[in-house]
Amino acid sequence: VVEVLRLGHRGDRDKRISTHVALTARALGAEKIIFTVEDEHVESSVKKVVENWGGNFKFVVEKHWKRYIREFKKRGIVVHLTMYGANINEIMPEIRELSKEKDILVVVGAEKVPKEVYELADYNISVGNQPHSEVAALAIFLDRLFEGKTLYRDFENAKIKIVPSNHGKVVIREK
Ligand code: SAM
Repeated sequence: VVEVLRLGHRGDRDKRISTHVALTARALGAEKIIFTVEDEHVESSVKKVVENWGGNFKFVVEKHWKRYIREFKKRGIVVHLTMYGANINEIMPEIRELSKEKDILVVVGAEKVPKEVYELADYNISVGNQPHSEVAALAIFLDRLFEGKTLYRDFENAKIKIVPSNHGKVVIREK
């Protein structure tokens, strides 16, 4: 099981990107997103997607994120995505091996990430050492972890499904 912890959220400024972090987590194979800041708009957007597109993706708010990380470490490993970390290309084989037996918590930041996160994490991993985006970093991490397989995943109880097509939109809607 993979969970994603979205650390921080700067109100209006981050609404769209925080929503994208959650949707990317869901679409690429995570089962749960944990926000550390409440935002009703983000929460309802994500829940609406789950309602229409299916699956059991969970959305929770946990202000005591340090406690959450410490508890998680009892059952899994904590991976913090940061441009300062060790290169994903080298570390991913080890993470993939560990993921066969342990849950993984992926931590991504919004603004400057507190020093404790670097210390609490079992792995600080970079998707290259250039600054870019939590959405991009998360997408690449999950895609590498699942080796592309989650792109074929079917979500149960979906009201809307897409039939992949090279020639436009083919959509199935449940009546
Ligand atoms: N400047 C901030 C800092 O020093 O922590 C980071 C802000 S960045 C816009 C937001 C998040 O994107 C980071 O916390 C990290 O999770 C992710 N991120 C950005 N670039 C990354 C990279 N090259 N590798 C891994 N994660 C990255």
